[in-house]
Amino acid sequence: MSVNKRDYYEVLGVSKDASLNGIKLAYRRLARKLHPDLNKTDPKAKEKFIEVQEAYEVLSDEQKRQNYDRFGFSGVHVNMGDFFSGGIPGIDELLRSIFGGFSSFGGFDDFGFGGFGSRARRRSAPRREVGQDIEDYVEITFEEAMFGVKKDILIERYTPCDDCEGSGAEDPSSIRTCPQCQGTGRIRKMTQSGFGTIIRETECYTCNGAGRVIEKKCKTCNGKKVVPESKTIHVSIPPGVENGVHLKVQGAGHVPSVNAIPGDLYLGIRITGDEKFIRRGNDLYTPANVDIVTAIIGGKINIPTLNYKEKKLTEKELTIPPGTQPGTEFRIKSRGVSYMRGRGRGDQYVIVKIEIPKKVSDKQKELLQKFKELNK
Ligand SMILES: [Zn+2]
Ligand SMILES: [Zn+2]
Repeated sequence: MSVNKRDYYEVLGVSKDASLNGIKLAYRRLARKLHPDLNKTDPKAKEKFIEVQEAYEVLSDEQKRQNYDRFGFSGVHVNMGDFFSGGIPGIDELLRSIFGGFSSFGGFDDFGFGGFGSRARRRSAPRREVGQDIEDYVEITFEEAMFGVKKDILIERYTPCDDCEGSGAEDPSSIRTCPQCQGTGRIRKMTQSGFGTIIRETECYTCNGAGRVIEKKCKTCNGKKVVPESKTIHVSIPPGVENGVHLKVQGAGHVPSVNAIPGDLYLGIRITGDEKFIRRGNDLYTPANVDIVTAIIGGKINIPTLNYKEKKLTEKELTIPPGTQPGTEFRIKSRGVSYMRGRGRGDQYVIVKIEIPKKVSDKQKELLQKFKELNK
């Protein structure tokens, strides 16, 4: 046992009778503040982080906490060297391993891209509350859809009240067993009918079935246990995304309670069109006007194309061979849309449209007449 160890309660900044939720919240706050990946300013961040982790390991475990309360440090044997033998995990991974999908709750902003919007609900673990999903949409340009883009999405969601640790009460002592139902959450109602007395069991109206009532409500959330939060979510939209799909941003939905699995954000993608390109699957079709003379004798035209190296729309020169027919397709390899799964891209097809002049001058008419005669 090292000599100068700080008391575990002191390390987490919680009282001796702190609830498990209180301990988790305190840990989460400190872990975010001190994790070596996030804290680059405090040279002792890593050391402090390990101290916090150790305190949490003990106080979050009922048996270890009891032993610690009774016997102090000699009652518990925690070896953080073992715990972090493979290095300190990333904050996200760490919080997820402790809180489930909880890691994205609060100030942690970088959400992974969770896959596509099958709206099927994930199976929830028994007894763990699942937050509601949020649905929103974002408009992106054709170029952004082709090359991928990072967007900041402002969402409104509710999240557990920090001041009452999500309990809704001003302090833990003001939570009492419901006097109406004695904590069962159910009450029996007797009604008289022609057949005698009917006893029906219903949800207790005093506590709404919770079994507990709050005498002094938390002033911050007014006893609602949650508070609204405006939050900016950074979303990476991958290249090749299709119009109308929903990207699932895991954990960015509502958080109804401290131990709940947060809901997800389903972000609908709306791509503002670019008439120069028609998308079919991963291929792009570009109609190109070719004047009649170039079509006959050959030449060069400029066509719009995706420059993946510079990630922008550019023009490219395309050689039109003599005798090119209307509807001819020229294929430009790998200038189509990126595959969402796996590497590679589709192709671009340039479809030739021949422009027939609607009006010609007398001089042109004369020449075309001559051309006609020579063509016989
Ligand atoms: Zn009740
Ligand atoms: Zn509150």
